Amino acid sequence: MTQDNRLRNDCFALPRGVSWTPVEKAIEQLKRGLSNIKGIEIISTTHALGRILASPVNAILSNPPYSNAAVDGYGFCGPAKTKVSKLKVMPGVAAAGAPFFGKVPEGSALRILTGAILPEGVDTVLLDEDIDQIDNFSITFDVSLKAGANTRKSGEDVYEGEQIFSKGHKLRPQDLALLAATGNATLNVFSILRVGVISTGNELLDAQTISFEQSKPGRIFDSNRPMLLSLIANWGYEVSDFGIINDDLDATRNVLNEARKSVDAIIISGGVSAGDEDHVSRLIKSEGQLENWRIAIKPGRPLALGLWKGIPIFGLPGNPVAALICSLIFARPALGLLAGHGWINPQGYLVPSGFDKQKKIGRREYLRARLSQDGNAEIFPSEGSGRISSLSWSTGLLELMDNEDKILKGDMVKYIPYSSFEI
Ligand code: AMP
Ligand code: MG
Repeated sequence: MTQDNRLRNDCFALPRGVSWTPVEKAIEQLKRGLSNIKGIEIISTTHALGRILASPVNAILSNPPYSNAAVDGYGFCGPAKTKVSKLKVMPGVAAAGAPFFGKVPEGSALRILTGAILPEGVDTVLLDEDIDQIDNFSITFDVSLKAGANTRKSGEDVYEGEQIFSKGHKLRPQDLALLAATGNATLNVFSILRVGVISTGNELLDAQTISFEQSKPGRIFDSNRPMLLSLIANWGYEVSDFGIINDDLDATRNVLNEARKSVDAIIISGGVSAGDEDHVSRLIKSEGQLENWRIAIKPGRPLALGLWKGIPIFGLPGNPVAALICSLIFARPALGLLAGHGWINPQGYLVPSGFDKQKKIGRREYLRARLSQDGNAEIFPSEGSGRISSLSWSTGLLELMDNEDKILKGDMVKYIPYSSFEI
């Protein structure tokens, strides 16, 4: 095979004389060009999962709001570091939600249960298990307790007035617990970003409406739309399904105009190359604003980032693998900016490579990967962009930077689990 043949057979070879935009530059452009576009609404904390805070949140109450018992036992005034062996038990009990209003004098103890407010005179709790002898009148024990043992101090977790979340934070289940504990029953959040999803291609069938037997030859099922619709819904956005559009300029224009009326951003897959049937990039270029479409990323070429009459549009490659990876790398953080979440880089980890690989300098590559039992990164045997099964096989991506040309077994490589992309 001659050098020329090798180049022609490599569909990712960068054509001579064409300049490719590095991923970093495309990202910088997106960051510069996009910002939050959503208004603010007030909602109840109970329904705030996945919502994005529109203002910082402070604790209205301390957590805990009052000092209380961390265990079931006997409360008393604990002298620092001194061993107390016998205490008089006074009548009564302090329980969670049922405080004891009297005072516990020095030398006495009161039955106290987990979560009960420490009554006046109590700063230490003796654990039930540490009691040697107990009768109606006294307890005897032989452990040395620091004053304050087995209690939770008011504000030891969070103080009233302290900032607990910043603007732009996307709320997780555990955040709702903290908000509730600190008395934040309602929140200012950004309205939910609305995203439209469109598939293009004469060959595409909707698996919901037609069986393969009923179809004409040469057709395939649309796999991008179910993937992209659920991806966007998973990110917490409102997603609208605009179906499958034929490779036709007018049909494409019509659907973009229709989508524009009800969504804040459009994700369209297929038809973004420069082929005869590729109308999407041609249309955005002539009637919209095409920002970028030769991005040095594999898989990913071609990719169109632009505006359709003021609405950001992400023209993804039709190949499902490339469509997913471009969504994760470009659309996810860009939608985050539009939604008020900010640009969120996925958290990656350095792991040893379990393979050798040559790579072209000047191009960012994302490999479908998973970790072996011993923690090495394995990659899917084929890099084909149509290998949808590789997406289910893998648990994340390896990010190979533009300036890397060779990876040897044992080299450290950056593994980004899919969970870092919220999938
Ligand atoms: P395109 O980007 O339109 O040139 O498409 C590239 C390849 O991806 C072709 O083999 C298409 O048939 C395939 N493809 C495009 N859109 C989809 C889709 N929604 N689901 C599955 N495959 C697709
Ligand atoms: Mg196509």
